[in-house]
Amino acid sequence: MTNGEIWQAVLGEVELAISPASFVTWFRDTSIIGFEDERVILSVPNGFAKEWLENKYNQFILKAIRNFRDNIRSVHCVVSTAAPKQSRLTKKEVDSILTGKNNLINLSEMETPAQQFEEGHLNLNRRYTFENFIVGSNNELAHAACLAVSKNPGRIYNPLFIYGGVGLGKTHLLQSIGNALLSQNPKTKIIYSTSEFFTNRYIDMVKNQQAREFKKSYLDADLLIIDDIQFIAGKEKTQEEFFHIFNTLYQLNKQIILSSDRPPKAIATLEDRLRSRFEGGMIADVTRPDLETKIAILQHKAAQRDFEVENEVLHYISSNIQNNIRELEGALSRVIVTCELKQAEPNLGNVKKILADIIHSGRKKGIGFKQIIRSVADFYNSSPQDLASRSRRKDIVRPRQIAMYLMREELRASFPGIGEELGGRDHSTAMHAYEKIRKEVEQDEALEQDINNIKSRLYSQDV
Ligand code: ADP
Ligand code: MG
Repeated sequence: MTNGEIWQAVLGEVELAISPASFVTWFRDTSIIGFEDERVILSVPNGFAKEWLENKYNQFILKAIRNFRDNIRSVHCVVSTAAPKQSRLTKKEVDSILTGKNNLINLSEMETPAQQFEEGHLNLNRRYTFENFIVGSNNELAHAACLAVSKNPGRIYNPLFIYGGVGLGKTHLLQSIGNALLSQNPKTKIIYSTSEFFTNRYIDMVKNQQAREFKKSYLDADLLIIDDIQFIAGKEKTQEEFFHIFNTLYQLNKQIILSSDRPPKAIATLEDRLRSRFEGGMIADVTRPDLETKIAILQHKAAQRDFEVENEVLHYISSNIQNNIRELEGALSRVIVTCELKQAEPNLGNVKKILADIIHSGRKKGIGFKQIIRSVADFYNSSPQDLASRSRRKDIVRPRQIAMYLMREELRASFPGIGEELGGRDHSTAMHAYEKIRKEVEQDEALEQDINNIKSRLYSQDV
């Protein structure tokens, strides 16, 4: 195997493990230069990539590379000015992925280089368009609202608030609006930012006594997109600043689009005045896709990559990957890369082998009692201690029952084991809780959504 082939396989693995934005940011224009004793030497385009690949992503790289060279113990990067042309990403994807930045307000001019590369401050991704978005019953409303806003920004639904679990297409939809507006008018000023980036940048600018510049940089936007707004919760100063920016843009009829993992009313410690602003426009959700929609998404993605595959196989992937579309895409991507590399047929038998460690993975992924308790507690603003306590307060009993339900569903844990884990309760308590929640989920859509939300966070924790 050549170094190029090894690196392609490594990229295929890493792509499954981290978010698409991080993947493009950090792994673009990278390649293997060679191996030296127990080190792999990589070529990277800049100092930031070196820093991240050597320190943050090294474990992913090592894990994947040891499939080919089991003696490798560390990752060393060399910054090369001439980007290697043979990298799979550069050639095939990056051109279409990365945008002409000149169209966007370039916040980065005011920042230190390190911040420019901070996650979350990627500009629009060209791949996220309405054309590439498959509409199903899970996202119909959100899609229609986004499309309407792209045709009439600032006029009909303002703000537009899209919510739903991880990996269900929120960022894709938000950015589709941006891309649509840009193609109608390349001069449109669009700011896309995650709320984490917004917060960090605000803190930095205040530190440097540039609070006014901070605000100003947002005020000439025609379209402001803040992704994952839930992270602004509890950050009072940032919320206040955002409130002012929001109001000013709103009064100027500028479109504001927000996303979150839950509806405004469920974001704890969100200031009331912001909550009521968010609720003043249009709110739409995205949920997990049904089987047909999943198959349609896979068909679309396979066709885009010129990959021919039987429907039987897509059906197998779709019915076994439950949690979200990002994972669905990741699974397909692994199949494509592996089949191309090994020149294998993507038939059902091979695909089952290729995906064996992803499918049926609850336990393998290292998810256990502790992770479930923690995710449930986080979601309901409670604590693992509370769930295991004797308390019979309603706001503790319910999350406790939901944790019991999930332990049974996701881990196939025994009822005595579940009771034990949650404060040494009797197995009949666990059994009762499981049955109760199971019945409720069938009838109560809001509960089902909460549980899906908890599950998708449980399964798609990024690095
Ligand atoms: P979220 O922001 O909700 O976490 P993303 O927008 O990042 O999710 O979506 C995860 C991945 O799934 C992206 O690569 C996106 O293109 C893809 N995706 C999600 N929904 C759809 C859809 N309906 N059609 C096509 N691709 C989708
Ligand atoms: Mg997102």
